[in-house]
Parts: sequence; C-alpha cells; structure tokens
Amino acid sequence: KDPVPSDIEVSQTAVTPEHISAIAKEAGILEEELDLHGPYIGNVKLSVLERLKDAKQGNYVLVTGINPTSLGEGKSTTTIGLSQALGAHLDKKVFTNIRVPSAGPTFGVKGGASGGGYAQTIPMELFNINVPNLQISPVLAANNLIAAAIDARMYHEQTQTDEALFRRLCPNKNGTREFLPPMRKRLAKLGIDKTNPDDLTPEEASKFVRLDIDPETITWKRVVDTCDRHLRKITVGQAPSEQRGKERSTGFDIAVASECMAILALATSIRDLRERLGRIVVAYSRAGDPVTAEDLGVAGAAAVLMLDALQPSLMQTLEKTPVLVHAGPFANIAHGNSSLIADQIALKLVGEEGFVLTEAGFGADIGAEKFFNIKCRASGLKPDCAVIVATVRALKMHGGGPQVTPGKPLDRAYKEENLDLLAKGVGNLQHHVRNMNKFGVPTVCCINRFATDTDAEIDLVRQAALDAGAYDAVMANHWAEGGAGAVDLGSSVIKACADARAGKAGTGFKFLYPLEMSLRDKIQRISIEIYGASGVEFSDLANEQLDRYERLGYGNLPICVAKTHLSLSADPSKRGVPTDFTVTVREARASVGAGLILAMLGDIMTIPGLPTLPGFFNVDVTDDGQILGLF
Ligand code: ADP
Repeated sequence: KDPVPSDIEVSQTAVTPEHISAIAKEAGILEEELDLHGPYIGNVKLSVLERLKDAKQGNYVLVTGINPTSLGEGKSTTTIGLSQALGAHLDKKVFTNIRVPSAGPTFGVKGGASGGGYAQTIPMELFNINVPNLQISPVLAANNLIAAAIDARMYHEQTQTDEALFRRLCPNKNGTREFLPPMRKRLAKLGIDKTNPDDLTPEEASKFVRLDIDPETITWKRVVDTCDRHLRKITVGQAPSEQRGKERSTGFDIAVASECMAILALATSIRDLRERLGRIVVAYSRAGDPVTAEDLGVAGAAAVLMLDALQPSLMQTLEKTPVLVHAGPFANIAHGNSSLIADQIALKLVGEEGFVLTEAGFGADIGAEKFFNIKCRASGLKPDCAVIVATVRALKMHGGGPQVTPGKPLDRAYKEENLDLLAKGVGNLQHHVRNMNKFGVPTVCCINRFATDTDAEIDLVRQAALDAGAYDAVMANHWAEGGAGAVDLGSSVIKACADARAGKAGTGFKFLYPLEMSLRDKIQRISIEIYGASGVEFSDLANEQLDRYERLGYGNLPICVAKTHLSLSADPSKRGVPTDFTVTVREARASVGAGLILAMLGDIMTIPGLPTLPGFFNVDVTDDGQILGLF
C-alpha cells in the first residue's frame, strides 16, 4: 500500500497469520517439540537439539548497524525483511533470530522491536506483550528472589546467634539433622569434609552459618522491566520490623541489563543454566571472599523459575517465515544479543544450505563487538557474513545534521537531497565496515531505503561502503515492499556466505583479543581498535574492582562494555567518527555466572527514564480487546 500504514495496522490487517504449528512443521520442528502458547506462539523444546545433534549447520549471518539516531535505523526491520526475501522469494530455508522486547522501550521512547512496515514479526501485540511475559517475567522473578535472599540472609545473621542460625538452617527432624544439597557445596568450599551436622566443631559451625556479607560490596540489584528512573537509587529495610537488620542503600536495574538475562542468552543447556546461576557472585564477605547465589541456597530455585524461559518462542514474519524470539539483553548496557540456544537450534533446523539471521543490538561498535567476542566465544559458532544496516538519515546526522528527536517532525535536511551533509557523515559507516573486517568476516552493507532518499544519495552511500572494504553494498526497500524489496540484498548475502565458505571472502573469523590478556588491556584494545579512542582512563573505583576481579581469578573473562549507542565514543553528542578522545571506565562489575566483566563507560545508566511524552500515551484497548497504538 502507498503510503505504508502504521506498523500495528500492517501487522493487524496485511495478512492472516498461520497457526504456529504449521510454521513449526514447515521448519522441521516436530509436534512434540512445540509447547503452544495460544495459536501464534510456540515454545521450542531443547530436545530438538538432541534429535538434530548430527545435522550439518546452516550459514550464520549477523545483522548489525551504524550508530543510529534515537529513532532506530531499521536493524530489526532489515533482519526480518531479509529473511522474508530469502525464505519467500529466494527459496532458501531461513530462520530469523531476534531478542524479546522490553516493556521499557515499548512504552518509552523507541517502541517495540517487531520490525516495521511490511517486514515484521506478527502478531505484533503478542510479540511485544505476550512473549515478554514468557521470558522477561521469569528473569524478574529469579533476579528478585536472589535479591530477597541476600537481604533476608543478612537480616537473620545480624539478629541471631551462631547457635540459633545453625538450629534453623539444619533443623532436627525426628532426631536427625542433615545438610541440604547447596549446603554441601558450601561446606566443600570451606574445606569442611563432614556429612553430619552434629559433627561440626563450634568454629566450623560459625564459619558455615555466617556468609558475613559486607553490605558495601553487594553488587546485586533488584530489577523491573520499566523505564523507572526514580528506582536508580533507593533505600531498603526502612520498616520498623527490619530496623535491627539495618537500612541499606541500593537500586534497581532494568531487567534486560541483568545478569540473569545475560545467563538466559548465553546458557547452552538446562545444566549450564543451573551452574551459571550458582556461580553468580552477589557480594563479598568481610574477609573478601566472593558470596555466590549457590552460597545463598537460591540458585536451584532461580533455575526452576527460569526453566521454561530457556525455550525460544517461535513466531512468524508477515511472509510466513519462522522467527525465534529469545532473550533480550540490551546492547548498550548488556551484551545485546539474542540467545545462543536459539541460534544453535535454528542452524541445525535450516541445514547446510540454509540461513540463520541473528541481530546484534544497536551499532556494530557495541552489539557486533559483543556478538563476536562474547556470544561466538561462548557458542563456538563462527559467522559467515555480517550485514551492516545504514540509513541516509543517520549518516546525515553524523555529517552534522540537526538533532533527530523522537516525537518531533524531522528537519528538512532529512527529507530533501543533501549530498554534502551525507558525504560528511558516511565516515561512520566506513568505520564500522573496517571494524567488521578486523574480525575477518565479509560485510554486506544494506542501505535501508526511506521514501525520501534519492538515487544519488543511495549511490553515495554504496560507494563509500565499497571504498571502505565492504564485500558489497545494496539498497533494500523491504519496509515498503516486504521481502520482494530485499531480494538483491538476499542474493548478495547468499553470495557472500558462499564466498566466505570457499575462502574467497573475508580473511576468516577471529576474535579481537585473547582471553589471556589482562582486563585493562582488553578494555583498551576494544576502545582503541573499535571506538577509535586514543586511550582509556580508569577511575579509582574501577581500578580497585578490576584488581579484585583479577586477584579472584576472573581476569580471563571477556569484556562487556556498557556505553552509549549514539556515538562511537562514550559521549552521545560526538557524531560521525570522533577522533582524539579518551574514554573513562567509571565502574566495573563481575558477572561471573554470565561469564563476563562489565565495564561502564561514560554516564551510561543501567535503568533508563521516561520522556515527557512516552509511547504509552498512544496505547489503548477497545471494548472487544483489540490493542491500539503499539509501534
Ligand atoms: P532498529 O532495530 O535499528 O532499532 P527498527 O527496525 O526497530 O530499528 O525500526 C525503527 C522504526 O523505524 C520502526 O518503527 C520502523 O517501522 C521504522 N523504519 C524502519 N525502516 C524504515 C524505512 N525504510 N522507512 C520508514 N520507516 C522505517
């Protein structure tokens, strides 16, 4: 249709969705491998991996982008449009793997993440509302149970004698006492080789019952799935009933920045999920030893809460190709990639000649870097090709165009041909193309066409990408035309993957840094090589934390940088290709369960706020239950 209707209108009226069991069958998923959640969502059981363990894997394509404006430049839209092109027009088996949307952006600034125009995951309202209930709610429950366990344990330790604690932790049942399984792990950690509680000496019993958490060292926060800036700093324990346990200053993060979400995205099996949750370090004891979720006895329960969320949710595109929606770490404050399990399942299902498109959030400086160095390292999978999505609009902004503000009309510069502005801005795309080449993966640049883009503008971007060493650069119009608009892009991706497999494109996938490098050196390498920084500064706090992590043996973990997505630097106002800048690591956090060290650059917040006019103003429901206004 011309003009293209709103995203929700297209989603609700363009086609009638298939029953999801038909999509599953077509994709090679057996009936018993699908857990239905209504007619349009089916959770895929992990048993499919066992059944297909000997199957050959398909082509693995990463979709990433340039530094966007705060409106988004169509990465999700392209991931979906490209899969519609491959699956519905180029006769390829294909899966699109994307992240579960957070209610933060859905009701905040940016809207949902189902794609847009005629390239969408449908039904959009189920994608934006129901799938988060299946995946984000369990993360909230697990995370907040661990948080409650910390404060409750400190309260009980502060208010009871060793003896009373021991009596309650190992109650006498019919004349016998026993250690519960997590307690046995704690005894082993303490080097106490006894199975009968009555055999413990008073010193051993005291060590056993007291985790002795130093409240100053607690890194675990509570989480919500809302942009609620007033929860950034709070005080807990203010009720008179808790006064003896003392008040404590803490805060909330958004759930998609939490370690539990990162674990969901990186776990390879139920067992791995359980073990990672057990390894979570929530704080340190006064003696400086890490206190884990296993020590708190809560890791098993957290795993139970997250068990069903470990199944990717199968949905469909507007052209009936399969989509796996799974896990949703934000890219600016977490590692920004959908789940490893979904990619593994999809790569087996499509077979050797098929394609799996997986999206890394935000710009390639953060999402793709973390895809390569964290996700691919955890999975052992190697991407065959990367697609960088660029828009004329964002490149004009990088060239010095006026601010692009959500909710405000776009400036003329973005609606009329302006080759000067564009030429000044294409450097941002070129920087990302060169970065992708450092990972040895061929890059296809997708110019996501907006109706106001002119042919001369598209040509300018295409040439700039090729000049920087892109394998190919192709205009795509899937937003307006669906998969038919991305056939050239699809053909280019098919060719890039074939050439990469034949050793004729790219230099072969490699990581940016070896794990053996020190934590500071790894942060420096990412900042200098990928962001183009001239150096890195570390705050005293960050230095102290990084020293501690290395002392405790976490020095060989990969780095997960948290920084703005709007700039290659850590300063959102610096556009284009900033030079002569340093970045400052303000704080570090060890996510030992997820297996990464978080380095916070600049002023990045781990829970966003709401604007004056949040997206929720548009959202409503009719008397017969039809959802309006999601975008
Ligand atoms: P990203 O994944 O990069 O954040 P999205 O794919 O979510 O971006 O797209 C952001 C918004 O931009 C969506 O509302 C989508 O409909 C719209 N959009 C994407 N591509 C186009 C296009 N070519 N023309 C017009 N609007 C577009």
